[in-house]
Amino acid sequence: MLQYQTIPVTPFQQNCSLIWDDQTRQAAVVDPGGDLDLILGAVKTLGLQLEQIWITHAHVDHASGTADLAEQLGGLPIIGPHPADQFWIDGLPAAAAAYGFPPARVFKPTRWLADGDTVTLGAHTLQVRHCPGHTPGHVVFYSPEIKRAFVGDVLFAGSIGRTDFPQGNHDDLIASITQRLWPMGNDTVFIPGHGPESTFGRERQSNPYVRDV
Ligand SMILES: [Zn+2]
Ligand SMILES: [Zn+2]
Repeated sequence: MLQYQTIPVTPFQQNCSLIWDDQTRQAAVVDPGGDLDLILGAVKTLGLQLEQIWITHAHVDHASGTADLAEQLGGLPIIGPHPADQFWIDGLPAAAAAYGFPPARVFKPTRWLADGDTVTLGAHTLQVRHCPGHTPGHVVFYSPEIKRAFVGDVLFAGSIGRTDFPQGNHDDLIASITQRLWPMGNDTVFIPGHGPESTFGRERQSNPYVRDV
């Protein structure tokens, strides 16, 4: 069975998540944006073997700890985001400086992701959906097994991701949400990049940006 724990990191309280197999303790971390001591502390407390880094998109609060974490753990594979976020990866050092984050380094994904790909953790498979709009290379990770989706800054409880950044696109974001997230089912719980969890069904009823009309 897959389990997960969300750890808010950075001054932006970004929801970094650890996902693991409760038998083998094999784990992946989604969006290690910073505060690596907090993340590695949880890995140790939970007795996990961290094997992979999964990136939803390359904004500074989600990805600025990636290079350091991969290096500290002896070259962990970095999986994602979609190649359209290359310019955000290249901009990480400048963004970290601009927002007062600790210095961040550019990283090189071991594997880029595309819509329809899968990622595996031990015996478990998660589906990858490309959800552009907030950033052009944003991906989300969906586990049908536990009915959870890790959606980064695509969708929040009661809100949606910003689209006023370079290459942001509001229409693309709405299409990503309605065509690629809603089919995961109303009872699927999503873990957003910031703030509390919700379900797609609740957002379809009450989220003013994307509710069903
Ligand atoms: Zn973002
Ligand atoms: Zn964010």
